Parts: sequence; structure tokens; C-alpha cells
Amino acid sequence: MIIDINRISALLLNNEQPSNAIVEIILDKALKLKGLTLEDVAMLLNVRAPLREAILKTAGEVKQAVFGRRIVLFAPLYLSNECVNNCLYCGFRIENREAARKTLSVEEAVREAKTLEAKGYKRLLLVAAENPSKSNIDYILKVVEAIYRETDIRILHLNAAPMPVDDLKRLKVAGIGVLQVFQETYHPETYAMMHPSGRKKDYSYRLSAMDRAIDAGFDDLGIGALLGLYDWRFEVLATIAHARYLKERYGIWPHTISVPRLRPASGSLLKETPYPVSDEEFKLIVAIYRLAVPTAGVVVSTREGADLRREVLAVGASQISAGSKTEPGGYEADGEHYEAAQFATDDHRTLDEVIEDVAALGYMPSLCTSCYRAGRTGSDFHDMASSGNIKDYCSANAALTLKEYSIDAAGDSKEACEEAIERELGEIADEKLKAGATERLLRIEAGERDIYY
Ligand code: SAM
Ligand code: SF4
Repeated sequence: MIIDINRISALLLNNEQPSNAIVEIILDKALKLKGLTLEDVAMLLNVRAPLREAILKTAGEVKQAVFGRRIVLFAPLYLSNECVNNCLYCGFRIENREAARKTLSVEEAVREAKTLEAKGYKRLLLVAAENPSKSNIDYILKVVEAIYRETDIRILHLNAAPMPVDDLKRLKVAGIGVLQVFQETYHPETYAMMHPSGRKKDYSYRLSAMDRAIDAGFDDLGIGALLGLYDWRFEVLATIAHARYLKERYGIWPHTISVPRLRPASGSLLKETPYPVSDEEFKLIVAIYRLAVPTAGVVVSTREGADLRREVLAVGASQISAGSKTEPGGYEADGEHYEAAQFATDDHRTLDEVIEDVAALGYMPSLCTSCYRAGRTGSDFHDMASSGNIKDYCSANAALTLKEYSIDAAGDSKEACEEAIERELGEIADEKLKAGATERLLRIEAGERDIYY
């Protein structure tokens, strides 16, 4: 059994706030970077203000211990909005007659990637609607191969419909880094209601997507629940149960846990969010994911506004998208096309603006992709991360990639980038590594690119 719904429901029956002493014990345990049990998480879900502050603060410390100041930046590249499913909440659903439909040609997809590359992105998340005659496996493979061949984008991740093992094997060979599938809701009855028809109707097939990915050779997996469809306490506990299942059964924690929150979408059948999640609750959710699965990248997209995205950096988020468009062809067209978009974004800043802001807040904007390319994936990555050993590598690599950005693509953020690079170098404890990074920075200034540890 992947997740035990009865156990999760039973754990949620108790909604009493735990004592300060119990919260302290759980947070001390979290600081050891070994994660939390479902019982621990169920207790934290009941904590209210002002004790919640302690959870947020500890999550910030755990993030710092595992990843340092580093905040990973990426953009989604939407390939197709022609979907055979009918998810009530999504602008791409088949019965949305107002949607302007489009599947990018391979050439158009490459042009989108080149547009993003010119802005300084190094990692992209390919996103596709589900459609066996449009965005099928052969199409996705052609896009992946063409982008790697014709651009300097260094890693492609994928968020697409669950697939059979044979298709996943081909994606792995083609060089997909992280394979993401969000369960949307782990609550079976709500799942059935939200996904009335199409291939996505099958809850179990979706829930087992990660098992098939592991069978196919993937060891970097991305999970998440779409917040707002059902009680967030249930979804958080179930997401962590899913993460723990992957660890217990296969020995690997998920590489990322995304925190998508429901947004308005053109043609959505949900006029209101069924189970709204407040900003305060959202921050607590980010923090709990960080404490429960300390080595996972906790991903907060441009579904959230700039102010909240600033705040979540202090409570455990480690990856953010920036400058995103959620319609196919959106980067080249560079306008707002709500009727072709999957949902409305809330943070409309460019990558350069986000980088400047992240650096000014004292974090290290990272465009690094080294771990995937140096083979530090799956349990290797998590072992290094939980022992704190990945931080120095990350500092050096983040400095090297930010230097490339500063020279090749930065606008107003240039000064902030240079300051962040200096600050990050100063933090590297290992003198040999620091000297090596300094020498590599000079090589980048002299025109060399793509140097990493
Ligand atoms: N079509 C594939 C699927 O559904 O798995 C691929 C990814 S879909 C294009 C990306 C994700 O966007 C979905 O998994 C869902 O969680 C999220 N999403 C859909 N509609 C949304 C909305 N209105 N607001 C926020 N996120 C939404
Ligand atoms: Fe299609 Fe995915 Fe949107 Fe559902 S969420 S309608 S599967 S694109």
C-alpha cells in the first residue's frame, strides 16, 4: 500500500494543540536532519500562533543546514495545452471551449528554450497536457533531444501525465532529470470528483507513477498536492506519507516536494476554492515539508505573489520558478494570454528582478545544475545533503553559475550578483575549494563556460 488513508484520517482526528515541550522535542529531532514521522507531523499540523513561529524558525535553520543560502531558480516551459482530461480546476481541460489550443512544434519548443536561455536560465521544467495524439512520448522525446542538441540549457525536468515504465525508460535515457507528477489530491473521493473523465480519472495509476519511474531508473522524483482541493492537513500528511513510502520501499526521498496552491483559471469549473489555504497556513506547510523531508527541494512557483515568496525563503523553500508563462509559446510571444494559460500567475517579475531581490535578501540565487550532471542524484544526493556535505559544493557551483549569469544576462541585478558571489565565496570553509572556485571564476571572466564541481 502506497499510503494508508485510514491511518492518515485517524491521525487527523486529534486536533488538540500539543504542549510547548512536545513541540520542542519534535523540533529538536528535526534539527538532526533525519526527518519526522507521520505522528510528529500530525502534531505540528495542530500548532497555532504564537507557537507556530518556532516551527517556521526551525524550518529556516534546517534549510540553512542542508542547502546554505542557496535558492534554485528555474522556469517552466509549457509544450501543449491540448488535454484529453477534464480536471475541474484547470484551464486546459477538454471541455473548456474558450481555451486557445496549441501544441508547440519541436522547432517552436526549441525557440522557447532559446528565449529562456538568452534570459540566463540553465534549468527548465517541461510541462505538457495529456494527449496521446499530441504531446505523446515520441513528441516529448523529440523536444528533449532537440533542446539538448540546439541550446545550452543544461538540465530538463518534466511534469507530465503518469506513464508506463517503457516510456519512462526512454525519458531517462534522453536525459530528463527530475520526473514530477503531482497527485493533486490524495483524498480518493475528492480525486474522483475533481477528475470526472479522461485518463486522469484513475487515482491508483497516478499514485503509482513514482513506483514506475523508479522501475524505469529514475532516482530524482517530484511529488506534491494541489492545495485547495481538500483539507490541507490531510494533503500534507498524505504527501509526507508518500515521501516516507518512497524512502522506506526504495531507499530514496523525493527530490522535490512542490507546493502548488489553486489559482483562478480561465474556464475552470471551480468558481471558489473548495478548501482555501491562507498565507499563514501556506507558510506552515512549507515549513513542515522542510522539517519532515529535510533534503527535498521545496518548490514554490509563481502561483504565489512576490511578498509571500519572499517570506517562504526564510521558512524552508529552496526552489522557486521565476518569470513564468503558463501558456505554450508564452515566452516568445511575451504577453498575457489568459485564455491559453493553465492558470493565472501572481508573481510577474522577470528572472533578473527575482535574482536581484533574492540576492538583496541575503540568499544566493543559484542556476546550478551540477549535481544532475556529475551523477549526484537519488540517495547519493540525499546522503550528502543530510550530512551537510553538499553545502560547500553548492556554494562554489552557485557562485560559478551566478558569475556566468552576471556576465552574460544580468540587467539591473549585476551589482547584487557580484556581491552575492563574494559573500558566498567568503562562506566556503574549505580553503582548497575556495582557491579552486576563485581560479574558476577568473576562467569564467576570461570567457570559459560550464565549469562545475
Ligand atoms: N497535465 C499533466 C498533469 O496534470 O499531470 C501535467 C502537468 S499540469 C499541466 C501541471 C500541474 O498544474 C497540475 O499537476 C496541477 O497540480 C497544476 N494546476 C492545474 N490547474 C491549476 C490551477 N488552476 N491552479 C494551480 N495549479 C494548477
Ligand atoms: Fe490536463 Fe493536467 Fe490540466 Fe488536468 S491538470 S486538464 S491533466 S493539463
